[in-house]
Amino acid sequence: ATTLRLLLGDQLNAQHSWFRHRHDDVVYVLMEVRQETDYVLHHAQKIIAIFAGMRELARQLAASGHRVCYLTIDDAANLQSLPANLDMLLARYSAAEFEYQAPDEWRLDAQMATYTRTLAVRSAMVDSEHFYSAHGEAAQLFSKRQRWLMEHFYRAMRVKHKVLVDADDKPLGGQWNFDHDNRKSWPGTPTAPADWRAPHDHSALWETIQKAGVASFGAPHAAALAWPLNRDEALQHLDAFVEHALPHFGQFQDAMSSRSSRLFHSLLSFALNTKMLNPREVVARVESAWHAGHAPLAAVEGYIRQILGWREYVRGVYWEQMPEYVERNVFGHTRALPGWFWTGQTKMRCMASAIGDSLEHAHTHHIHRLMVIGNFALVAGLDPVALHHWYLGVYIDAFEWVELPNTLGMSQFADGGMLATKPYVSSAAYIDRMSDYCKGCHYDKKQRLGERACPFNALYWDFFARNEERLASNPRIGMVYPQLRKMEPEAVKALREKAGELRAQLDGL
Ligand code: FAD
Ligand code: SF4
Repeated sequence: ATTLRLLLGDQLNAQHSWFRHRHDDVVYVLMEVRQETDYVLHHAQKIIAIFAGMRELARQLAASGHRVCYLTIDDAANLQSLPANLDMLLARYSAAEFEYQAPDEWRLDAQMATYTRTLAVRSAMVDSEHFYSAHGEAAQLFSKRQRWLMEHFYRAMRVKHKVLVDADDKPLGGQWNFDHDNRKSWPGTPTAPADWRAPHDHSALWETIQKAGVASFGAPHAAALAWPLNRDEALQHLDAFVEHALPHFGQFQDAMSSRSSRLFHSLLSFALNTKMLNPREVVARVESAWHAGHAPLAAVEGYIRQILGWREYVRGVYWEQMPEYVERNVFGHTRALPGWFWTGQTKMRCMASAIGDSLEHAHTHHIHRLMVIGNFALVAGLDPVALHHWYLGVYIDAFEWVELPNTLGMSQFADGGMLATKPYVSSAAYIDRMSDYCKGCHYDKKQRLGERACPFNALYWDFFARNEERLASNPRIGMVYPQLRKMEPEAVKALREKAGELRAQLDGL
């Protein structure tokens, strides 16, 4: 009797134990479906890269003797949804059993649970064999604690998985966290490494996607798509990152520059989130670079914290909080996104750069996502769900389990501070300190009022003024409220009026 095993588009883990042995009675199923292209409007590169990665895994599996059934988006038999296609294929193969790997997104987990509940054949869900932590592990760790502090989770993970700890489980280098070494702006040296990713030509696939009527936005770059599409390529990227960028990753982690959009980041999030790479091998490789004397501990620890800490932690938040999490909106923000989120055409140079990169590469770095785009969205009062849909659509690495807690929690504080200890907002001063954007900007970073005043300034003060009740007692907010109270009431009034004017004409900024 035949068993059908489903692989979703973010389950491209060639090392999964499923593939250890060949079985003539097992058929691996991969399908390109409108259900998955259409749940939000996606960036063209995201659709191309996921389909190309799926096709590549299917090709490799078939080449090593596995039975594979692949439904392309334009296949006449494709019914364009997971349940409909599965019904059709179970009948086609007279299958007696159905298996799937645990989906990472609540939406798919719920759909598969509902589907298998009424299925006539036997079914089972297996582990995706990717993450360090189980679904409920973070929730269990925090069960007796008031706050879900990432740092607590991260230290527990370091000890549990013996990463950067000595035999007594003490942190190597005597500190758990080297963040204070990691906040430098980039003066232009050391030189940022060139893009080491080899481009692929996916013009034919792009044409198929378009002919199938799939809507998208952003630059497709179908003839020169630069994202890794299989495990070998992803491993090459990892090597190149460790060799050329890791030594400087830490100190310039939060830097931004109009002269280099990649700086010293790894660009590995797509390979990680589609499971071409396992987080353990990335962490082990980076840790060994420190033991070999190739990279300083601050860089290595800073990088490992992103993967062993933040990545696993936000997943814990997601599974603990869904499905209600998406409805959290403590500030009651409802404003629509300005049209330039889809064009990058704004006079604000920092926003034009961050959104422009996102549209051009389906990627921009953490600090642009948090302290430029997210920062603006929060002080301008944009609707967090609309923003969540934009982030989920635009980024090559966006899958809801990681995107939603980052957008809604970390960047918009819409969960009231479960994930972030303070709202990540700033005036122009922070953006100027960490980047070279303000120098060539239409707006004046120093001015708060007037035509040319940087919009971040009035919006920032207004954000704190209008949320005093909720935020004044937050110890991490520091000097903001004493400063506000020191201002003349007339000055505060003028700032708030200016912020109101800005909010009324966001499209024109
Ligand atoms: P590097 O800077 O080289 O970091 C290394 C790796 O650490 C990343 O590949 C990623 O796997 C992990 N990582 C770093 N920061 C985070 C984080 N905050 N949460 C989870 N993992 C992290 N990351 C996604 O993978 N998908 C998303 O949809 C996503 N949406 C985001 C939305 C917002 C509002 C913010 C503030 C951050 C978001 N991030 C997301 C986190 C981060 O911006 C990206 O992981 C990172 O920019 C990917 O580029 P990189 O591989 O060069 O990262
Ligand atoms: Fe951004 Fe304001 Fe600086 Fe312009 S002046 S780049 S809008 S922070």
